[in-house]
Amino acid sequence: MLGLLVLLSSTLLSAATVKQVRVWPAPDHTRLVFDLSGAAEHKLFTLANPSRIVIDLANSKMAAKLSALELAKTPIENIRSGKRGPSGLRIVLDLKSQTQPRSFSLKPNAKYGHRLVVDLVNKKKAEVKTVKQLATNGNSKRDIVIAIDAGHGGEDPGAIGPGRVKEKDVVLRIARELAALFKAEAGFKPVLIRDSDYYVGLRNRTRKARNAGADLFVSIHADAFKRSSARGASVWTLSERGASSEMGRWLAGRENSTDLIGGVGTLSKDSDNDVLEGVLLDMSMHSSISHSREVGSHVQRYMGKVAHMHKKQVQHAGFMVLKSPDIPSILVETGFISNPGEARLLQQRSHQRKLAQSIFNGIRTHFSNKPPPGTLLAWKQNGGDGKTTRYKVSRGDTLSVIASRNGVALKRLRELNGLTSDVIRVGQVLRIPAS
Ligand SMILES: [Zn+2]
Repeated sequence: MLGLLVLLSSTLLSAATVKQVRVWPAPDHTRLVFDLSGAAEHKLFTLANPSRIVIDLANSKMAAKLSALELAKTPIENIRSGKRGPSGLRIVLDLKSQTQPRSFSLKPNAKYGHRLVVDLVNKKKAEVKTVKQLATNGNSKRDIVIAIDAGHGGEDPGAIGPGRVKEKDVVLRIARELAALFKAEAGFKPVLIRDSDYYVGLRNRTRKARNAGADLFVSIHADAFKRSSARGASVWTLSERGASSEMGRWLAGRENSTDLIGGVGTLSKDSDNDVLEGVLLDMSMHSSISHSREVGSHVQRYMGKVAHMHKKQVQHAGFMVLKSPDIPSILVETGFISNPGEARLLQQRSHQRKLAQSIFNGIRTHFSNKPPPGTLLAWKQNGGDGKTTRYKVSRGDTLSVIASRNGVALKRLRELNGLTSDVIRVGQVLRIPAS
């Protein structure tokens, strides 16, 4: 009897099973996630010639189908597993290119059980590009950089609506539409914080925006609420005090827990950054919040033309992703994916386009009103580096002829001279952009 009990409890404690494996290729790394039936100790090491990564799991066995994994966009040639000693499991990754591996375990949460995460970080760093981008930002006609952040991704699907529609997929499509609009607009440059299905940690999102020299950070979501009747789009900025509503607290709480689901490895430098960011926060947070509110209210106004809005004004809550001290930041909830009607709309390409267009219009309006110094927009508004020539209207001149003779758009000429119509008179002096 006693013997049987011992046997039972040892089998209960032993053998974590690898139930499933997921692969998430990102531009700078590939993430492998192993779903485990329980906690398991692991060891990771590399072997050369041929290049391999070995993961040993104590007291574990494999139940996932490794051959089904899509490895095309990863540094992995092949994954295989075998027994290691009496009860261990060995997983071998055969590599086709050099990577820097790191691994960590994640505890169970609302969405997942025990997970082992292995990140294969690409050897060639993206840092060089960052420096170059900042350098080109130094000239006097730089583009306004808009960091577009599609929420969630990879391990974190975000909210899930009727018919298994996932927030991460909907918001990525809207983000891409928005990026396309800015790409086509002179004076703007979009940067997608994620442009495929992988997870980016909250801190990394703002860090990526800063590295790109962003003038604005816009985070796009389509969340769920506990009541499926909740509907409407909304625009959010960071609250310095509490959230402006119960909804705000709820949404911010959900968003801020995304790292637990998406999985963030412990980076050694994080505690240093906390101190640094704390200092910066005090210095410039205030001005960036007031800019955020201005942009937010333009976006709110334009969105109101294409979508039902949850509230009439921009709302505030403690979203962590908005806590860049130096970059104005807004978060757009494009609708409630938990609401069947809105879930249907959010999946429609035409509605995604309308939403992107309205966000674009709001942002563009803000920056045309207040172009940051040193940008092409500021330069244009000053009549080309502040230099304009003067022209005295002669008999027979029309505004459109003067415009085309000088290669200036008629609208631009009107704006520059404060004209409300095309009527000009002989002898009138017009300002004309120098170039
Ligand atoms: Zn979200």
